[in-house]
Amino acid sequence: MSELRPIGRFPEEWVEELAGLGEPKYRAQQIFRWIHRRGELDAAKMTDLPVALRERLAAAGVVAPLEVIDVHRAKDGTRKLVLGMQGGGRIECVLIPMTPLSGDADLAAAADDEDDALEGPAERTRVTLCVSTQFGCAMGCVFCASGRAGLGRGLGADEIVSQVILARRHLDENEDLTNLVFMGMGEPLHHYDETARALRLLTHPEGTGMSPRRITVSTVGLVPGLKKLGADFAGKVGLAVSLHAPDDATRSRIVPMNKRYPLNELIAALKSYPLPRRRRITIEYTLIDGVNDTDEHADRLVRVLAGLPVKVNLIPMNPVAGADFRASPPERVDAFQARVAGYGVSCFVRARRGDEVSAACGQLALEPGLIELGRARVPA
Ligand code: SAH
Repeated sequence: MSELRPIGRFPEEWVEELAGLGEPKYRAQQIFRWIHRRGELDAAKMTDLPVALRERLAAAGVVAPLEVIDVHRAKDGTRKLVLGMQGGGRIECVLIPMTPLSGDADLAAAADDEDDALEGPAERTRVTLCVSTQFGCAMGCVFCASGRAGLGRGLGADEIVSQVILARRHLDENEDLTNLVFMGMGEPLHHYDETARALRLLTHPEGTGMSPRRITVSTVGLVPGLKKLGADFAGKVGLAVSLHAPDDATRSRIVPMNKRYPLNELIAALKSYPLPRRRRITIEYTLIDGVNDTDEHADRLVRVLAGLPVKVNLIPMNPVAGADFRASPPERVDAFQARVAGYGVSCFVRARRGDEVSAACGQLALEPGLIELGRARVPA
């Protein structure tokens, strides 16, 4: 059972586990802190534990569930970490420094409505980490590399949290990891229980202690999952929704899940999301040439979103091998942005980050040779 995987355990679960080993209760908090606060995934290095306990913990699987295989660094400072899973298969996560000049404060702001994304001492750089929740993805969005690869398997909460712990080790000296976005491979709400467990671990006061408002979960719009997320976290976790089209015909063409949860149901679910005051839902909109990028689409988008506290994040489509679609030309992107903004709706273009190392939105994919290892289904 994945909830018993050591890195994914809560302190109270450690208490139970340790009782079986005849260890005192206080060790539970000690171990939880080592893992989640200090980021130590190797039991042998938990120096204030008795050696015999360290050995038992190591034997019981207190080891990193992921191994850093490669770090690709783009010129803009974006780092893509390629992580190997136990038993085979690779996933990816991406460190994205938020520099004032890179024009991408929106990514940090996706998790941070108070618009203080660039606050703090000038010499420190705030970094957002984009994590994966699944190996591959079952949603099948036609413009996304992960979607085109199909689903291998969902990640355990331990594997989700380990991305944060391992990525921290790859921060530069002047950087702080301040924001998390669940926008990597996979659909977080298709895999609700492990996603929710990871969110609880990451926001646990004895552990990483991240504020839920600095975490954004991005979803294709799975309505039951949206309801659960809103209820379980009282709306405190930031929400981003991959809308990509303002009408069912266009949306179903590029986001197959729209056939299951059409726009009226999705928008109704967003209206009832218990969003705290002053916070907004991020609407992601990938601009695809000739598909969803006309003035009419912009006008309709504004109508569909009427009454919802949102900010629209336009993403010119990033190139994906084998996809029949391509980005809207820059003039179209600008015109679309200006048209939406002209109605008084907050709307900005997400800067392309890390694309030379295939770390940009939609480019996280299963490497061809590894698909079999992960049992991923590859659509013909
Ligand atoms: N499954 C989640 C999170 C994954 S991707 C979701 O659908 O929201 C994060 C964002 O990147 C989504 O909005 C996704 O639609 C977008 N995206 C996927 N492929 C893209 C591409 N080729 N170019 C630009 N954005 C893309």
